Amino acid sequence: MISHPALQEIQDRLSIVDLIGGYLSLKKAGRNFKGLCPFHPEKTPSFVVYPDKQFFICYGCGVGGDLITFVMKHEHLEFPEAVELLARKAGVEAPRFGGRSASSEASGGLYRVHEWAARLYHELLIQSPEAKEARAYLEKRGLDPATWETFQLGYAPDRWDHLSRGAEKEGFNPGLLEQAGLSIRKEGGGSYDRFRNRVIFPIWDARGRVIAFSGRLIEDDPKSPKYMNSPETELYVKGKVLYGLHLAAPQIREQDFCIVVEGNMDWVTPTSRGFRNVVASMGTALTEAQVKLIRRLTRNVVIVYDGDSAGQAATLRGLDLFLQAEMRVRVAVLPAGTDPDSLIRKQGVEAFAGVLKECKELFDYKLGGLTRQWNPKELEGRIGICQEMLPTIKRVPNAIQRGEYIRRLAEILGIPEGLLWKELERVKLQTADWKPSAMLKMPALPRLAPLSPEEVLAGLLLEDPSRIGQVEGRIELEDCRDPEVRRVIERLLEGLREGNLPDNPREFWKQPPPGSGEGAWEGRMARWLAEADSIEDKERAMDELVARIHASRHQESVEGLRVSLRQAEELGNEPESNRLIAEINRLVKVQAARQA
Ligand SMILES: [Zn+2]
Repeated sequence: MISHPALQEIQDRLSIVDLIGGYLSLKKAGRNFKGLCPFHPEKTPSFVVYPDKQFFICYGCGVGGDLITFVMKHEHLEFPEAVELLARKAGVEAPRFGGRSASSEASGGLYRVHEWAARLYHELLIQSPEAKEARAYLEKRGLDPATWETFQLGYAPDRWDHLSRGAEKEGFNPGLLEQAGLSIRKEGGGSYDRFRNRVIFPIWDARGRVIAFSGRLIEDDPKSPKYMNSPETELYVKGKVLYGLHLAAPQIREQDFCIVVEGNMDWVTPTSRGFRNVVASMGTALTEAQVKLIRRLTRNVVIVYDGDSAGQAATLRGLDLFLQAEMRVRVAVLPAGTDPDSLIRKQGVEAFAGVLKECKELFDYKLGGLTRQWNPKELEGRIGICQEMLPTIKRVPNAIQRGEYIRRLAEILGIPEGLLWKELERVKLQTADWKPSAMLKMPALPRLAPLSPEEVLAGLLLEDPSRIGQVEGRIELEDCRDPEVRRVIERLLEGLREGNLPDNPREFWKQPPPGSGEGAWEGRMARWLAEADSIEDKERAMDELVARIHASRHQESVEGLRVSLRQAEELGNEPESNRLIAEINRLVKVQAARQA
């Protein structure tokens, strides 16, 4: 299963530098690339990507592996899921693997039931006579049937059990709809559909799978909320989703900036009119997880707020997250009483483009708001403004930029710069510095121990398995103390005998020798390969390593014999002592001859 041809193709088509470069920033260092490790906290880069051999290793925490490993660890995915994601990126059909884990089997059911429900809602919208008003509503909002198709819009009929009955007919486990939040259990048993008589917007994850729904009332009703979303489930966690991300991602990358709006209609309308780099936060305060999702694609963000939510302190503080993540954030404010949807419908796309053009840097935007709220001419006002602005400035990672902001703040408030710098020093940031959350849980690790000659030899053999020919007959499996090294050599010798040597190390990544600790194997293998990569004269190194392995085994045998000799002497066993002395002398001579 591991040497599946599709896996080879995925690895051939994708560049590990591009892939990892999408998650963290990498700088060229010789033939390789370096960056800050996403798996442990660090200030100087010890994470290295080797493009020729398509693997990575962190010299700080020892994590290493190929691109599948990276995606598994970074996205917290199981092997088949990681392969599926990479296959999609590479444009290769994903291979099917048996034996999925129990949890991915369960979430597999949830994905399937969402996909099925999205199709059912969509078909109802297109075909059902009941959906007449829903269709009229969408047309009125300027969304034509082509957009319904693109965005998989749907309709939930005004009935209590349409979805439940359909699911039963389809053979879905009855608990699954409830687990998906699509139906609600009744007190006396049975259940009813959550979404009724609403236009349905599917909510997708970053990979384009439907994980929840948002339903909009067709006619406003004071007794019912205008928008209703699925509850949080195993798949859908609010604050971790950016609406429309999977459709917008290519354009965000391409244009190198991302527009963030609030609600789903704020997304649908601009997206359907040609703004393809838009995502919706589905709430006003952005979360760290959402910031991370955007940061993988671009460092430039324009937040679009309607006049009402803009300027709220909580909203503004959320934007500091972007600064901490070393991103450039600008704010565009819509005219009072409008949102992106209504603005575009009433005044056209040019009006929306105009608002975007008028966007301000977060610093200016925030300061503008604060000077309206506080009077900078009064002491109290100056203190109030400083209290809000200094934490923002403190989060700006670039020192030159920080200096510029302090200079301007000093000018506007009429406070000496030196005083502001002193105040800035005293500011204690409430939240932890921005880090991938996985890092926070990881304890600091001791430096990696130096590699033994056996390990370096294994690295050279893995790097180019045909090198096994050079050591065949010169080294015995028993010469290797490390069981994992032994397994590698054993497998290569077997391959040599049977004429099916692999021509690269790929298949070894996911096939740890029996008994290896989970995860530890790939880190070791990556270190061995990295060491091998750094050796210039590999042929000579192989000879030297074989010699060093022999020498240390020899040393061990001689030491063993000396222990026996001491025992024999203590017991006064003269014949045995003499035999041992002769044996030791012979071994020493053999070794001297070898080294000559
Ligand atoms: Zn690390």
